[in-house]
Amino acid sequence: MNSAESAALVLVCKERGWNEAADGESADLVLLNTCSVRITAERRVLSRIAHYAGIKKKQNKRKTRRLTLVVAGCMAQRLGETLKQKYPQVDYVMGTSARSLFPLILEAAEKDTKADFDTNEKPVFAFSNSHLEEGQFRSFIPIMHGCNNFCSYCIVPYVRGGEVSRDPENIAREIRLVGERGVREITLLGQNVNSYRWEQTGMDFSRLLKFAAAEAEKSGVKWIRFLSANPKDFSPATVEVMAENRVFCRHLHLPVQHGSNNVLKAMNRGYTRERFLELVREIRAAMPEISLSTDILVGFPGETEDDLRQTLELMEEMKFLYAYMYHFNPREGTKAFDLPDRIGEEVKKERLSRVMTLQEKHTAQLLKARIGSTETVLIEGISRKNADELITRTEKDEMAAVAGPKSMIGSFARITISSLRGKTFRAKELLL
Ligand code: SF4
Repeated sequence: MNSAESAALVLVCKERGWNEAADGESADLVLLNTCSVRITAERRVLSRIAHYAGIKKKQNKRKTRRLTLVVAGCMAQRLGETLKQKYPQVDYVMGTSARSLFPLILEAAEKDTKADFDTNEKPVFAFSNSHLEEGQFRSFIPIMHGCNNFCSYCIVPYVRGGEVSRDPENIAREIRLVGERGVREITLLGQNVNSYRWEQTGMDFSRLLKFAAAEAEKSGVKWIRFLSANPKDFSPATVEVMAENRVFCRHLHLPVQHGSNNVLKAMNRGYTRERFLELVREIRAAMPEISLSTDILVGFPGETEDDLRQTLELMEEMKFLYAYMYHFNPREGTKAFDLPDRIGEEVKKERLSRVMTLQEKHTAQLLKARIGSTETVLIEGISRKNADELITRTEKDEMAAVAGPKSMIGSFARITISSLRGKTFRAKELLL
């Protein structure tokens, strides 16, 4: 979501004739588009703010050029004007719902003045028209904003507000636009895409998927993914639409978070372990070839050794292709912050390392089993490790490197997987 929203802000700059600066020292404007989900991300942002504030201080002393410093995104929404009090060098704090004010900030920077608006007025959230990153053949397309779920550990509903669904016609326009620019794969984005609902026509997520598939077919987009799908709202109709239409990639990111019902309840996730397992059975029955990935959060307050054992067992049963694994970090302002029985840092780290070791084993097993198979891939670019190789992705969200001409970037091709290096396949043949 942060990438998509950053791309939209870059497009606003480019439309007004701004270009990328070589570095912070020579820039006229620096925008930090922040994410609040993890405390570590916030800490990194604070050190970047301090860095740019230092550049501004030096400029002020030398009475040289004036850098405009903007902090945008979830952290800006959460901390608001207190950020400016701590770092007076910050010129604008632009929360997620104040993003539509960005052109005013650019206009003021162009005129070397200060825009005058109050971000506390909370303008209504508006979706950008395009989130395309220049030169990319994959694009994110936000379909909703915010979340109503209030998982007890999560800050998102507080910083992004309640769910707002995007007009399907606006989504269709963006699919057509990116298709015309050569994009071959789109990812429909939302904090919980399954609760998409366009009230005017009663369109729910499964109907939106059908609608998006039809638009993709007309515009040259061949693959559709979506993120994130909360298991509690995953409907049989969505499984059916995916299974019926091969435009939907055979990969699903389904964040389970934990394998114990006690912990899932304390997290307020809204589903049980049994329901999650049943859902995966339904999905795999409809699409046996599908690969699954997940998020796992360990060390939640009150988590016992038995709870962790249940998580490891669930992982054994599910065999996820990959997982984003992390341990609990209390976020002030969330319900979990006040929960008793916090787990000690050492125990959290040790439990996380057990989860990671098991996941690594599953990833290696699943990837090794794929050697010898022939797959369709989208060629995304040049490999960072070897300039003679192209880096490609399968619909199951696996990476493969293969020798081939740069002219094929942005095309689909067939490869035969010959070996594995780390988590990336090597392939010998590249056929159109
Ligand atoms: S579904 Fe839960 S974890 Fe995801 S954004 Fe909403 S509150 Fe946060």
